[in-house]
Amino acid sequence: ETKTLLADKTVRTTCTYCGVGCQLDVSVIDGEIKGIQAPETAEVNEGHTCLKGRFAFQFYDHPDRLREPLIKKNGKFEEVTWEEAYDFIASKMLHIKNKYGPDSIGGISSSRATNEENYLMQKMIRVGVGTNNIDGCARVCHAPTAYGMQQAFGTGAATNSIEDLKQTDAIFLFGANPIKGHPVTGAKIKQAFMKGVTSIVVDPVKTKLANLATHFLQIRPGTNVAVLNMIAYHIINENLVNEHFITSYTEKYEEFKTHVSNLNIPELEKLTGVSNEDVKQAAIAYASAERAMEFHGLGVTEHFQGSKTVMLLSNIAMMTGNIGKNGVGLNPLRGQNNVQGAADMGVQPHQGAGYMDVNKPEIQTYYAEKYGIDKMPVKEGLKIPQMLDAAIDGKIKALYIMGEDTIMTDPNTNHSIKAFEKLELIVVQELFMTATTELADVVLPAASYFEKNGTFTNGERRVQRVNKVVEPIGNSKPDGQIIIDIMDKLGYKQPTGATYNAALVIEEIADVIPFMKGLSWDRLGKNGLQWPIKEDGTDTQMLHVNGQFKKGIGTFHNFDFEESPEIVSHGQKFPFILTTGRELEHYNSGTMTRRTDNQHILNKDYLEVNPKDALKKGIKDSETVRIYSDRGSVNIPIKFSKNVKKGVLRTTFHQPEVFINLITGSVGDKETLTPEYKVVAVDFEKIE
Ligand code: SF4
Repeated sequence: ETKTLLADKTVRTTCTYCGVGCQLDVSVIDGEIKGIQAPETAEVNEGHTCLKGRFAFQFYDHPDRLREPLIKKNGKFEEVTWEEAYDFIASKMLHIKNKYGPDSIGGISSSRATNEENYLMQKMIRVGVGTNNIDGCARVCHAPTAYGMQQAFGTGAATNSIEDLKQTDAIFLFGANPIKGHPVTGAKIKQAFMKGVTSIVVDPVKTKLANLATHFLQIRPGTNVAVLNMIAYHIINENLVNEHFITSYTEKYEEFKTHVSNLNIPELEKLTGVSNEDVKQAAIAYASAERAMEFHGLGVTEHFQGSKTVMLLSNIAMMTGNIGKNGVGLNPLRGQNNVQGAADMGVQPHQGAGYMDVNKPEIQTYYAEKYGIDKMPVKEGLKIPQMLDAAIDGKIKALYIMGEDTIMTDPNTNHSIKAFEKLELIVVQELFMTATTELADVVLPAASYFEKNGTFTNGERRVQRVNKVVEPIGNSKPDGQIIIDIMDKLGYKQPTGATYNAALVIEEIADVIPFMKGLSWDRLGKNGLQWPIKEDGTDTQMLHVNGQFKKGIGTFHNFDFEESPEIVSHGQKFPFILTTGRELEHYNSGTMTRRTDNQHILNKDYLEVNPKDALKKGIKDSETVRIYSDRGSVNIPIKFSKNVKKGVLRTTFHQPEVFINLITGSVGDKETLTPEYKVVAVDFEKIE
């Protein structure tokens, strides 16, 4: 905290929006936030921010902010005291637990919340309730990244740092639009492209970066596995593999090589919609660079073959030796501010804090000792889509949600609503009323990130401080305090005391998670620490140096392309493929950014359509159309765009007026169930 000429105080904190994790200097006058600047000394953003981090702060004291706890009585929400809300929740949860067993309760956590709060949330569900039914928003974004990279390397996190962009010779950007989704990193990638670094973009949409790239492969949505197999084929055929790396540090390469050499390349060329020669040139460009960095986004993960695509991206890096040095690696662009941290803290149904498998007896003993209880739940919990299905089947009776608008963000909204309607108890901690809180029994007002201490972990494994700037609005409380209070009521008091103290929770996290041993509030300083963090506090900028993979060896996997069941079962009747993406001005469901001046810049979702497709249906630019699928329909204005090929549509999803998830489907990544938002079989028509 510092005093400046004009402001009463300026507090350094970490942006709440995307996984870049920009540092912000927030200025306060008379107890109100008046402006935000980007500190030049911040390692992550070096004096830069985007439109969201710098200007989209007005949501924090917006009149819509929830200020008091609410309980629904006779169909209407009524303000109640915290004590009444807590007693109601605890008695209902205990009743449901006793009647149906602990596995009838599920928890959904949030990357909007800090590491400490996510840690406490998973602890409440696992220990306070006694089930592993805990999941978070990684389920709708990067769960396949964590899973796929764990299979290949043993660690499901970025191998390198963004700083490495300064040392790379080639950038391979796959299924990501960081100019909109991760703007500060996007700007750095753009600068590298403009300086003439070899640049390869694979995307169904011609993005700004695609326009600048030396190689652009505009594939048909859903054919990622096919194009990566083609790339591997050419790397092998052109003799551009790194034999030393492969033989010294990896296994199962020969199986992969045999698999790839048997591919039917002309068939894959047809499937992907890109020429074999273009793929070959892109493969040569990547593999012949001295150092090449891969970046990927939700265009990789939100697919039926999402985890497999991540494993193939890992193959490409390993076969060319692009692992374990500066300027290389596999670098997922984590979408949300703390999605990395939420997973690190154990917000997953199969792994607890520190990625340890919850179904192994020795791990159960480890956690039980750390948490001071006799025994942990023994079976893996349910993922969010499974929780919703189980609710419909009557097996899940209660959902406790911290900071997630499940109804708006999960696919097939009508299915989600059906699940919610069957529940006996829905508790939601939130900043604002949302589509999800409307269906809740209890809504608890949470403090925003400006109103509490804690940490977020960005996409390069960097744990950074979130510092309290102003007091909580109204009667709201930090999510961590609410969870501790509920745990108290459930009969599980915290060793860190009844008052939420982020620094003390960090001490507990450092004790439980082996790769965070040296983490402490004081050591984080102004630029944070990248995990693994050794006991003496030294951190790690780069993983897998000298082939030191966590699981001892890097593993190649091989897969064939498989058409998405969405296309197989609905493609005939609904011939267009809809893919979704973000806008620079808004953040995900828009709960925060729509309540800032960013809404004046962009207040509509729209559908990008190739002009030829629209004109064939007699539809003009800017007209509103009805887009529909097997699940439902919505009306949306169209924008003519040559950035999408014929047969492909692209839309954004920030405004509740459109509610695009009414038409998305239930197909998900086979391994992780992450929904396939990027391939939705639809059709559209003029509204008469
Ligand atoms: Fe915030 Fe991401 Fe923008 Fe940085 S790039 S200011 S972290 S939204």
